Amino acid sequence: MNIILIAPPAAGKGTQAGLLCNKYNLNHISTGDLLRNAIESGSELSKELTKQMNDGKLISDNIIIQMIEEEIKDKDQFIYDGFPRNINQAKLLDDLLRDLNKKIDYVFYLKIDKEVALNRVIGRSSCPSCGHIYNDKLESMMPKKAGICDDCNIALFKRLDDNEETFNKRFETYINETAPIIEYYRDKNILYEIDSSKSKEDIFLNIERIIDNDKN
Ligand code: AMP
Repeated sequence: MNIILIAPPAAGKGTQAGLLCNKYNLNHISTGDLLRNAIESGSELSKELTKQMNDGKLISDNIIIQMIEEEIKDKDQFIYDGFPRNINQAKLLDDLLRDLNKKIDYVFYLKIDKEVALNRVIGRSSCPSCGHIYNDKLESMMPKKAGICDDCNIALFKRLDDNEETFNKRFETYINETAPIIEYYRDKNILYEIDSSKSKEDIFLNIERIIDNDKN
């Protein structure tokens, strides 16, 4: 099974991707994480990537598709988190999957209002070790001790692009460039809309129902 998650920033893509991976034994591929890793490893492109990401802009399709190709060539069963981000990437992914004899089974579109998403961005932090995402604006996602990972007992960190100014730019990029892929996948009859203003458990329940109903 291969799944794509489409969502505006902070709709809970990363959290749902983690839950889906655990339940259905999928490989998680987050282009945002791959880019942040490339920046941390001090790659030649670090400076340019950091600037583009802090400006809320998309990284070039060439860089992204190369990363994806490298990750998926020897494995199957993926959850694509944050990719594709525009129509060109969606078409490039179709070509790549066709060549590899693979296909996308579900595209979940996590719908959320801008104000709710902004609140989540402001409260969001994550563990640098296990990647668990916390949110001190949402009761169901607060760490037990403020600023500390429940499992690893180390300090949580905030992403540099999780601030109001960058969020507004990212949201605009999402509307202009990413939202058109919703219709692209609706036309293929593999798109499912999920109300993402709910708790992470309810969102996941809705996604699970769709997948499990299909199996039965
Ligand atoms: P995310 O972690 O998915 O919120 O992504 C953080 C930032 O990384 C985005 O705002 C973009 O600047 C960049 N990014 C992530 N995925 C892509 C992609 N598929 N194409 C272009 N840029 C991306």
